[in-house]
Amino acid sequence: MAVLPIRISGDPVLHSPAEPVETIDDEVRRLVADMFETMDAAPGVGLAAPQVGVGLRLFTYGWVDEEGNRWRGVAINPELLISPPPPGDPDLDEESEGCLSFPGERFGLRRADRALLRATDLDGDEFEIDAHGWLARIFQHEYDHLDGTLYTDRLSYPDRKIVAKITKKLGWGRPGVSWMPGVDDLEG
Ligand code: ZN
Repeated sequence: MAVLPIRISGDPVLHSPAEPVETIDDEVRRLVADMFETMDAAPGVGLAAPQVGVGLRLFTYGWVDEEGNRWRGVAINPELLISPPPPGDPDLDEESEGCLSFPGERFGLRRADRALLRATDLDGDEFEIDAHGWLARIFQHEYDHLDGTLYTDRLSYPDRKIVAKITKKLGWGRPGVSWMPGVDDLEG
């Protein structure tokens, strides 16, 4: 297993829709193992294949909720059913989000409180998770990555402007920029 470099906003793989996984073979199994290791090293609560430069529809997640339940797994070719997010402005204490592909920053964003995930696991078995709260947010964030959408794309003024400023200042927003968990001092 290996920790993989994480692509930063501007790399085309992050801004294009990913392709369905056709077969769960050794290559996919190795990718998933590397993604778990990368997610844990970052550290992050989710990681989508495009973030490590692979345009396939799968993501890993790992999170412990307030009751101590441990959520950890991989979602291959996921479908996600959500209701529209509630109207109004996000509560910055409860609804701020970050991304390993826009590291070191957080912005408020409204998400649906509930999301129904249907996906395939590494054994090829289908599963379903009825997620609420933060887990629902993780699924929405990771699912967006598979459609080439970053959470920063969902922000509105003035946050969009701040994102553009940071992107310019740090030399992001172009192909081939990445960071290495455990090596570069950044966090999502
Ligand atoms: Zn992300």
